[in-house]
Amino acid sequence: MELLEARIRQDGRVLSPDILKVDSFLNQQLDVQLFLEMAKEWRRLFADAGVNKLLTIEAGGIGLAAVTGLVFGCPVVFAKKSRSRNMAGGVYAAEVHSFTHGTVCTAQVSETYLSASDRLLLIDDFLANGAALDGLLSIAAQAGASVAGAGIAVEKAFQGGGDRIRARGVRVEALARIASMSPETGIRFC
Ligand code: 5GP
Repeated sequence: MELLEARIRQDGRVLSPDILKVDSFLNQQLDVQLFLEMAKEWRRLFADAGVNKLLTIEAGGIGLAAVTGLVFGCPVVFAKKSRSRNMAGGVYAAEVHSFTHGTVCTAQVSETYLSASDRLLLIDDFLANGAALDGLLSIAAQAGASVAGAGIAVEKAFQGGGDRIRARGVRVEALARIASMSPETGIRFC
């Protein structure tokens, strides 16, 4: 998506060969007008996919998913992260390794909010190694829900998570795909 790529070129900062900082419009200050255009693009891509609910993971995906929920006209559920190993009854849960924090957390969704009648679109800000998406796919499977695909803002394609998850048969639509990046040479899109 040209609009998002242009914004990344303009405001993104490559902190290291595998970390892109986009706090000024995606991760801390939120450009909701841009989110709206991204949501419309996912709506176009998944128009016939029968999506009735969005599923994301806190915290980065929530703002994006909320705006996308308005465009799809459907509820938005987010997985809460908790370090607790005490899995109380009534939740779907998956261990997720956090790419940015280097920690492992338990992503949890109350059983109340997902069911076998749901057809989900998974939403997240970044796709790197794919751990966050793996967690959401696991939670969807536990609920018996079907997955129409994943809408990702930025895929760092060189980290391989997207290829691995596509190879599992999941449709992944990333609006900006980065082929390579470095603090010295900048960002090259796919
Ligand atoms: P994965 O689980 O695919 O390895 O990483 C995806 C998650 O890590 C996203 O939910 C996002 O929060 C975070 N993440 C991965 N790479 C980056 C990055 O380059 N910049 C930022 N800001 N977050 C990232």
